Formats: sequence, C-alpha cells, structure tokens
Amino acid sequence: MLSQLGDGAKLLAGGQSLIPLMKLRFANPTHLVDLNFISGTSYIKEDQGVLRFGPLTRHAEIEASELAARIPILHDCAAGIADVQVRNRGSIGGSLAEADPSGDWAVVLDTLDAEVRCLGSNGERTVPFGDFIKDAYTTALQTNELVSEVIVKVPPKGSGGAYLAFKRSAPVYPTASAAVQLTMEGDVCKEAAIALGCVGLTAIKSKDSEAALRGQPITDKTLTSAAEAARAAADPQSDMRGSADYKRVLVAALLTRAIKVAARRARGEQVKVRHIYA
Ligand SMILES: Cc1cc2nc3c(=O)[nH]c(=O)nc-3n(C[C@H](O)[C@H](O)[C@H](O)COP(=O)(O)OP(=O)(O)OC[C@H]3O[C@@H](n4cnc5c(N)ncnc54)[C@H](O)[C@@H]3O)c2cc1C
Repeated sequence: MLSQLGDGAKLLAGGQSLIPLMKLRFANPTHLVDLNFISGTSYIKEDQGVLRFGPLTRHAEIEASELAARIPILHDCAAGIADVQVRNRGSIGGSLAEADPSGDWAVVLDTLDAEVRCLGSNGERTVPFGDFIKDAYTTALQTNELVSEVIVKVPPKGSGGAYLAFKRSAPVYPTASAAVQLTMEGDVCKEAAIALGCVGLTAIKSKDSEAALRGQPITDKTLTSAAEAARAAADPQSDMRGSADYKRVLVAALLTRAIKVAARRARGEQVKVRHIYA
C-alpha cells in the first residue's frame, strides 16, 4: 500500500507521535496506512537466546511481560514511558521509527546487543541497532520500509542493567536519562555499556564512562570517573527543561545511581527502580 499510495502516505502504529504532529499540522499525510489491522504484529517471544518484539508491541505489554523482565532494563524503560494511556497505545516499532531525540527506547537498546528487522518491497534486512538511528528523527529505514521486528540478545549470566530518567511529570519526555548494562565477574566489571538520553540529538554512547568501569570494581572512585566522563560526553541544549549545565550535572548523577542498581542486579538482587519525578 505504501508503494501504491506514494510519498504522502504514512504508517500509523499507536498514533502517539503521529497524531499529535497531525493535530499541530506539522505532518499532513495524504493517506494513513493503519498497521493495527495486520494481525500477528504484537508479540514478545523467546527464541534461542534472543527476545523478539513485534513492531506493534505496546510499551504496556513490555512493561507487563515476565519474558521481557528477564532483561530488567527493558522493564525500566517500558514502565517509565509517559502515562498509562500513552503506554497502552504507543509501540516499540513506532518509537524507533520516529527516532525522537528524547525517546527512551533508543537509549536503552544502545546498551544491549540489539537488531532491527526492516521489511520493504525488496525483502527483509537486519540492521544492527547501532546503525539504525542516524540522527534526530532520521533512521536507516528506506522509502517504503517498515520496522518488522526488534531483536534483543539476552545478556550473559552475571549481567544486570538499569535505566533511570529524571522527568518533570509522567506524560512528558525526560529532562535527562542514563542506561547502563554491566557484566560482572565477582566484584569486577568485565563489560560495560553506557548510553545517555536527552543530552544530544541522539542517544550518546559514553565510551569513556564504559572504560572507567571495565576491569575495575565498582567503587566511589570508579563511579566518580564514570560520572565525570558522562558529564564531558553529554552535549545538551538549554531549553524549558533546564540549562545545558544543569543537564550535564543531572545526567552524571543519574548515571551514578543507574550503575549502582545495575551492579546489584548483576549480582542477582531483585531491585525495583522508578524514574525520578520533579
Ligand atoms: C503525551 C506523550 C508523552 C510521551 N512521552 C514519552 C516518553 O516519555 N518517552 C518516550 O519514549 N516516548 C514518549 N512518547 C511517545 C510514545 O512513546 C509513542 O508511542 C512513540 O513515540 C511512537 O509510537 P507509536 O506506536 O505511537 O507510533 P505512531 O505515532 O503511530 O508513529 C510514529 C512514526 O513512526 C512511523 N511508524 C510507526 N510504526 C512504524 C513501523 N513499524 N515501521 C516504520 N515506521 C513506523 C509512523 O509513520 C510515524 O511517522 C509520548 C507521547 C505522548 C503523546
């Protein structure tokens, strides 16, 4: 249908980004192609060491899923998106396709071994998540391609992650956020993946924060080094949510908390986290 209807046609998933843009007249599609009529597009499956998410899997379904909770950072993300109404409609495929600079999923998937399947008239291809988001509101999707599945590898034993955001209220995007995925060997951090949200045009991988933890125990000293590196890596804009300086301090503080939770989860502790609300 997209090929037949031409450039003016847009896919409709949960409508939680597209409909507000249409109401503001920022988007004026000639046709809406409603994915909600295609059965079998909303699922969470485990398959040989990976979790597979259908494009129309709602944030609320991921929040409630015991399978998705095997990777606790996915639950942290889904449960913290906006409010119940938005989570009941909004989908993981729509969020990734939208590539909003403040969107939560991209930050979290940047710390995991994840892939996006893209389906078009020329067939299906698999894009590593690191290559999927190209810029603010820009993805690797080609004309007439859609997100057909999101695949996340279950992290190895001894792993734990956490995602924490600071929000002014529930139905708004975060002011800043931090995602951490650690693999621990005893007290030592063997692997670390760290991404920062809402402090750049896309999620920012804080490589120096990762390096500050890798091969080290989680101590006040390594936490401080990781937080300082995050502050340096952040590239925020001053806006109604706060000044750039404030967001740098905020993201470093969120990262420190997220690392502590991730390390506890990696040790097998059940730790519940909620975003921090002003
Ligand atoms: C009040 C409010 C607060 C919000 N707060 C947050 C927040 O805190 N964090 C957060 O991450 N998000 C937030 N959102 C956005 C929400 O997560 C949306 O669900 C999400 O951005 C878009 O998903 P959707 O399924 O609603 O997509 P839609 O709005 O239907 O579509 C979005 C775009 O993606 C395209 N599209 C949809 N599905 C596909 C597909 N499978 N393949 C290719 N293209 C596709 C559409 O054509 C459209 O261009 C908020 C939204 C609202 C209204």
